[in-house]
Amino acid sequence: MTDTQASLKPAQPTLYALAEDGRSLNFLFTQCGACGGLSFPANVPGCMHCGQPLEGAAQVARPGGGELLEFVTLHVPLLPGMAAPSIAGDIRIAPGIIEEGVIAVADEALLRPGMALQAVAAVNAADGVYACRFVPVNPEAVQ
Ligand SMILES: [Zn+2]
Repeated sequence: MTDTQASLKPAQPTLYALAEDGRSLNFLFTQCGACGGLSFPANVPGCMHCGQPLEGAAQVARPGGGELLEFVTLHVPLLPGMAAPSIAGDIRIAPGIIEEGVIAVADEALLRPGMALQAVAAVNAADGVYACRFVPVNPEAVQ
């Protein structure tokens, strides 16, 4: 399993990379040298917090995940090949940074605003790539 995953490539290599556990994802940020804030994706030209140019700034990998803000079940695929129904959510992945992601749970009844999500690899072995999916950190927390 680990050997197979080691040969896989991220579907969006500028955004995330497989973590050492072979399952979760690290998100790739750029840390501003002026204010210390994180910007995402790492190739944005200027700091999202203070506007300082980020050329030459340090890229940092952080465990991917965040706080679920809101979510909706999509009953029609937004993209070709996307499963339907699927659940899309807005996730605060770092202070001041909100990204939209696909949440891999069977039913939105398993989700609550404010719950912690982690990013994991969704492996597409046929294409040799993995995509980013979010799952609850503590799925048993929802009654
Ligand atoms: Zn800054």
